[in-house]
Amino acid sequence: MPPRPLSFRLLGLVLLGLVLCAGTSQAGKLSPLAPSPNWSHLDGYQRTITRGDFTRMINGVYSPDGDFWKYAQIDDQKVTIFSDLAKAEPLFTLHFATSESACAPRPYAYKTQATSSDPSRPLKGIRIALDPGHIGGDWAQLEGRYFKLGDDPPVEEAHLAMVTCDLLADRLEADGADIVWAKHGYEPVTDLRPDSLHREAIAALALRPDTTKKISDEMAIQRMIDNEAALLFYRVAEIRARAEVVNKEHPDLTICVHYNADDWGDPNHPTLIGNSRLVIFVNGAYEKSELAFDDMKYDLLRKLLDRDAPQEEKGCALVGQEMLDTLKYPAESYVGGYFARHVTDVPSVFARNLMASRLYHGPVIYCEGPYMNARDAYYRIIAGDYLGQRVIHGQSYPSIYRDYASSVEKGVLKYFGR
Ligand SMILES: [Zn+2]
Repeated sequence: MPPRPLSFRLLGLVLLGLVLCAGTSQAGKLSPLAPSPNWSHLDGYQRTITRGDFTRMINGVYSPDGDFWKYAQIDDQKVTIFSDLAKAEPLFTLHFATSESACAPRPYAYKTQATSSDPSRPLKGIRIALDPGHIGGDWAQLEGRYFKLGDDPPVEEAHLAMVTCDLLADRLEADGADIVWAKHGYEPVTDLRPDSLHREAIAALALRPDTTKKISDEMAIQRMIDNEAALLFYRVAEIRARAEVVNKEHPDLTICVHYNADDWGDPNHPTLIGNSRLVIFVNGAYEKSELAFDDMKYDLLRKLLDRDAPQEEKGCALVGQEMLDTLKYPAESYVGGYFARHVTDVPSVFARNLMASRLYHGPVIYCEGPYMNARDAYYRIIAGDYLGQRVIHGQSYPSIYRDYASSVEKGVLKYFGR
């Protein structure tokens, strides 16, 4: 193995230095790769909301644990958001409307109701963005969303999501909707690559003082930086690039399509578990550690002020119920320390702060499909897409991809009032 370049050793030393100096308030202001928020963009939202509605959305969806209020000061006229817990560094002040009828119009509009008069094209005039989860292709193994069991075909989440989204796009286009793709195919949308993100990886590691405990030698430092750079590439830079694509197109609704999984261990000797579960996410339930970042506070406010929460709850409840009815797996139940909060009357709908649902403007429905490594879904998944029915383990099934796509379509038609 050739020796590591000297610059890499230096980076490791820089990391040590950064980590030792980290842990101050300044280090925690922006999450990795986040641009500095332009708070004046929120000025267009002055007097667009009452104190009552603002408080209800914070307490009910965005910060059910109340951590948001540690950074905010509210009275009947206004709320001021602070960068710090001491509330000494104000970021933005929002003035409330005195009543519902006095609310100023919101600067960012999106359609929540279809107005097509053509019954064969009920979604005419509606623009829907599709975000097939993960990159896949050459990057699937790096992303850790890939496994292969014996001689079976490999299971790659990006591929499953892409197949599902293609089927969903066909259906929605037939319904008259315009489709915008956050990503199509198996290439990254971001121009950044792991190799170009080492400095950012070091900065990201320095934001987490717990990483100091894991440092034992130079090789360990190098591995940690490599892993962090990879994570920043496929999890952060990629989603930020997709958000840029989507937000330029100003969709009325964005749908993120994923397949869930339990820990499968070694990707070459994966563990299959018994049963699949379904979950669907609205953006919300921001964690205390996330609210320390100014960009997260900004994103939360923009989501809230665009009134995404009630639309996402409606959309996730409708799509989530259709998925439960069609795919017939039970709803996920998060217990213990997992940071997701159940919302709506549909058992599979949870609030959680995911990067995609936070960064895409307007309402987002974030679907997690069946577990790729659950026995009750795996054999349907590796059967691939097909027309009609097929007998799998003695039972007749339609293609799991078609079931997924058709259930999302049904929920979307109901969401737009059709
Ligand atoms: Zn996924």
